[in-house]
Formats: sequence, C-alpha cells, structure tokens
Amino acid sequence: MPSKKIVEDVLAYIKQSSPGQDEFYQASEEVLYALLPLLEEDPKYLEYNILQRIVVPERSIMFRVNWLDDYGKIQTNVGYRVQFNAAIGPYKGGLRFHPTVNLGIVKFLGFEQIFKNALTGLQIGGAKGGANFDPKGKSDNEIMRFCQSFMSELYKYIGKHKDVPAGDIGVGAREIGYLFGAYKKLTGEFEGVLTGKGINWGGSLARKEATGYGSVYFAENFLNVYGQTLKGKRCAISGSGNVAIYTIEKLYEMGAIPISCSDSRGTIYHKEGIDLAKLKVIKEIHHASLEEYADTDCKCSYIPLSKYPKDAHAVWDIPCDVAFPSATQNELTLKDAQRLEANGCILINEGANMPTTPKALAFIAQSDMLFAPGKAANAGGVATSQLEMSQNASMAQWSFEEVDTKLRIIMQNIFKTAYDTSVAFDCKGDLVKGANIAGFKKVADSMIEQGCV
Ligand code: NAP
Repeated sequence: MPSKKIVEDVLAYIKQSSPGQDEFYQASEEVLYALLPLLEEDPKYLEYNILQRIVVPERSIMFRVNWLDDYGKIQTNVGYRVQFNAAIGPYKGGLRFHPTVNLGIVKFLGFEQIFKNALTGLQIGGAKGGANFDPKGKSDNEIMRFCQSFMSELYKYIGKHKDVPAGDIGVGAREIGYLFGAYKKLTGEFEGVLTGKGINWGGSLARKEATGYGSVYFAENFLNVYGQTLKGKRCAISGSGNVAIYTIEKLYEMGAIPISCSDSRGTIYHKEGIDLAKLKVIKEIHHASLEEYADTDCKCSYIPLSKYPKDAHAVWDIPCDVAFPSATQNELTLKDAQRLEANGCILINEGANMPTTPKALAFIAQSDMLFAPGKAANAGGVATSQLEMSQNASMAQWSFEEVDTKLRIIMQNIFKTAYDTSVAFDCKGDLVKGANIAGFKKVADSMIEQGCV
C-alpha cells in the first residue's frame, strides 16, 4: 500500500479514536505527512507498524485534584500525565497549569516532545502533563495546596529513572518548588525527580534562560546558512513569559533589536527596543499586564486584545525582520503569516509549541520566508533539563557559562541534524521535514530494536 494511504489511514484512526482532540490531530498530521520521504525510502517503518504504534501513548494518567481555597471551600481540577514514548530514555516533558488544559492538549504536547527530545541527541523519552488549574489570581497558599494535592497522585508514576517532569505555561520556579517539596514528603527521597529546581536544591544554572537562549542560537545558525546574522535585525516576540523574556535577553546580547512582545491581554510596541529590566519587573515580580509597561513609558504603544485585527494578532502586524512566536499554540494565523511576509520578515522561529496554524504553515512553505519549527528551535529547555539531571546524578554543579556553552553546542547540533536531514531528503532548508524525519528515525529505530513491547 502506498505510504500516503497508510498515513491517511492512521490519521483517520486518530480522528475516530480520539474525538475532540483537535490539537493532537493537528500535531499528528504535521508529523506524519513530513515523514513521507522517509517512508518512501525505507519500508521497514511501515512493516513494523511504527506509525500506528507511535501515535498511541504508552500510558495516559488522568486524576482528580481536590484542594482547599482560602475560604475553606473544596475546589476540584483534573490532572494529567501522558507518558508517550520511552524508547530512547525515561519520560521527560513539562507540566502545564492553564484553564485550557485537557487530554487533547496534553497529548499534542507529549507527541511533539518525543521528536524534540530525540533531536537533542540526549537519551530522553517524551511525556507531558498538567492540569486545568489557573494559577492566575490565586494566593501563594492556594497554589501550594494545589501543587501538594496534584503531587499526592502524580508521585506514584514518576521517578528519577522513570519520568522526570519540568515546567511549562503556568508552572515556574514557585510551582516546581511546591511540587518537589510534596514529592520529598510523600516518598522520603531527595532525588532529581523534577527539573527547573531551585539553585540551592539541585537546580541547574541557566535552566531558566535555556529555552529562550536556545531559540535565539537556533535562529542565528539558520540565518548564517544564508549569509545573515541577527545583528541589527528588528525582532517581534509574542508572549512575555519565560521563553519570551529570555529570547529578548539573548537577542540584545546578539545585537538584535526586540521591538514588541505580547501577553494574553495585549501587545506592546517599543520602536527603540523593549526595556528588558522593566519587563522583568512587571512580568516576573508583579505578574501584571503589559498595559503597566505602556502606562509608564510614553514611547511605547499598547494594543489591547479588543483592537486586534480579525483572525490575526497585533504582534505580527508590526514590521520586523524575524518573528519569534513564544506564547502558545495556534497564535500565528494565515493572516498573520501574510502580514509578516508583506512587511519583509525573513524568518519565523518558533519558541512556543505549535504556535503556527496549519493554514499559516502551508502559506509559509510557499513563501520566501525561512521557518524554524518549535520541536527543533525550542528544544534548548529540555536539553538543559537533561543537563540538570546529569548534574544531579553526579552531585555536581556546573557554572552558568559551562551550561550555556553546552546549550549553544546542542542547539548548533540540533540545527545541523535538521538541516542536513532536509538536504539528504531533497528538501533543502525545509526544517519541518528535516526535524521530524531526524527525530522520528532515532525513536523508530530504537522501537524496532526493542521488539514488540
Ligand atoms: P509562561 O511563562 O507561562 O508564559 C506564557 C506567555 O504566553 C505569557 O506571556 C502569557 O500571557 C502568554 N499567553 C498564554 N496564552 C496565551 C494566549 N492564548 N494568547 C496570547 N498570549 C498567551 O510559559 P512559557 O514557559 O514561556 O511557555 C511559552 C510556550 O513555550 C508554550 O508553548 C510552551 O509549551 C513552550 N515551551 C516552553 C518551554 C520552557 O522551558 N518553559 C520549553 C519549550 C517550549 P499572560 O502573561 O497574560 O498569561
């Protein structure tokens, strides 16, 4: 049977067996179609039924999380951990706390994580988890009680050689601290079961910065192939959380000019360049809206969500050379991609997971813009998490510079792997194909070697 027909059958199976899981379907569709050149070249992946096997998680855990709010009222949320694939190492992937979290979102993130982790060249399998809990507007004590209750179930399924979660949207240093404390209390073990830990208790220097820094290193490697650098480039960044902030920080170090960023309520445009120190205070300390930034800076304009163009986002309407979508999934639409091209953007570098919609992706593929997919460009975070695990295992602590140097080399290697694979499969510069094929091949070959398990 032709490979394309098999891909279509697997996608039909996903649609029928996972109804309503649109994001998971979207991620599967992108990966499976990108694999076609490999499937045509090497029939063994179809013979061993790898496509049918790889789209089903090894284990999906769903659990109730009861916790007491500050008024003594019982609240209930749903917790998830999808352990997708451990062919090349223990499960690894973040936890997301956001009201939109559901099984389909966690499965899409876990599926992407399999190939991203393989691309890092490190031995880590793919997983993701989280809860439909919104940390926004909750007190510290409420967040602590939620994290303790969440861990009172999750601890049964994780461990330093089994599954090592990290942060994601809504899960930063504070939440990792409460989760780790609860794990330690429940098991009596002080072990590297989570990454993104505090520096005094097993965390790695440069982990907080790693995804954003890594995304910028990736963009620089990509531009270099075309005789360009980031120096002097005007950059638009969506989001203003962990990934966005450290993308902006590294862009300044590389001589670029980050001119805009956004949050869930609006976008700021600062022609001379975003004031990073101010942004950090507003977002990392006050946990406030970007409106506060614009209120205290007359050179900055603020576009609230209500003023965004229809089916588009203000942050992509601002002329820029390089775009760094770094907020959330499906935040760069067809209209956004068309505006970016019309305004002269040369590279879209995904810091977030699956931020570009399928229609936008199809448009970009036909345009002259370069495109760096998130599973390659944002892999610096998980790679540095693995460096944290290595430090924990050897009871060592490396300097910021040591970790950053390793991160830079890992990002260079990820870029080279994805780019060289695109060349080998006759689609030079198509990193969607290059990254998916390279990541898949490593996992699929390992699955074949380990037999039918
Ligand atoms: P974060 O610190 O929680 O920040 C998320 C940012 O995105 C915030 O500014 C948030 O705005 C904004 N945002 C969230 N939902 C949005 C929406 N629907 N529309 C517009 N803006 C929205 O999370 P993060 O760690 O930076 O993660 C960002 C992305 O990178 C996610 O896709 C994540 O999966 C991916 N990623 C993260 C890591 C990592 O190491 N953290 C690694 C790889 C990939 P508000 O401030 O208003 O909420």
